[in-house]
Amino acid sequence: MGRFAPSPTGALHLGSLTTAIASYCHIKSLNGAWLLRIEDTDSQRCNAKFSEQILIDLENLGLHWDGDIWYQSARVDSYNELLYDQLLPYVYGCRCSRKALADYEIYPRFCLPDPKTAAYDSNKLLYKQQKIQHLTDKKVRIQLPNHSIGFIDGIQGIQWSNPQQSLGDVVLRRADGTINYFLAASIDDGLQGITHVMRGLDILPLTTAQISIMRYLNLPAVEHWYHLPLVENHYGQKLSKQNLATPIDTLTLPKCQNLIQKALTLLKQPAVELDKPEVMLQQAIAQWRLDPLQHQSVLGKV
Ligand code: GLU
Repeated sequence: MGRFAPSPTGALHLGSLTTAIASYCHIKSLNGAWLLRIEDTDSQRCNAKFSEQILIDLENLGLHWDGDIWYQSARVDSYNELLYDQLLPYVYGCRCSRKALADYEIYPRFCLPDPKTAAYDSNKLLYKQQKIQHLTDKKVRIQLPNHSIGFIDGIQGIQWSNPQQSLGDVVLRRADGTINYFLAASIDDGLQGITHVMRGLDILPLTTAQISIMRYLNLPAVEHWYHLPLVENHYGQKLSKQNLATPIDTLTLPKCQNLIQKALTLLKQPAVELDKPEVMLQQAIAQWRLDPLQHQSVLGKV
């Protein structure tokens, strides 16, 4: 089971399109399903008009997803429920302002309660109530394991990192209640039974945190990770909505054909013949190879 999980903070661009096409071709070459999940918990940055456009673009490009779309904005209650049921022993509330933390790369644990003074009631129900109360209106931070976690990345090779040393106590939920990526993606990849995650290399540093959170939650582990080299702009920056990457235009068949060919060229795949998008993708699936991508960090510049 694979998935594509865009955040609708803007339209798809050539970078996100390569991720969509690569994850689609890879999982389909293994006869798996390809799910679509809209990562829209951040209501300030996400916009329904972008989600709608992403669906239209995927459809126009013949990237048909399997099953129902999961919208994370509709799942906030489930995230909080799992947070309260499974993660309470690992989390704590934090009131530090962004300004107070400006000089620190890793959170210096100003708000980590001293285990001696944090005397929660030994009664389980009371403990839960008190802890939930303690987290209310604060950032919720999680203590990640302080040991190395390794995994095999099917593109980047063997990876190791100690999530507590490399990331610190990451924020799972913001003070206004917004669920952050770490919590939402960890829960959904587990609950959706995702076995193959293929996504951009920019997320590789977060993967051992996700693995840890999924273990804390007793969710089935993702079996195969793949972090794709990135498409860059002329300044060597990852294409992103923040640096105003050009949105893809899928209005006409020739435009769609051209986008598929461009993405496959960036992904170092053999050429496919011009045809209906679905037929072009069938050919791309039949020819799909990971080895041209191995150990690369940049797909190309556009
Ligand atoms: N929502 C993330 C993004 O658009 C992708 C996260 C993922 O694939 O795990 O960058």
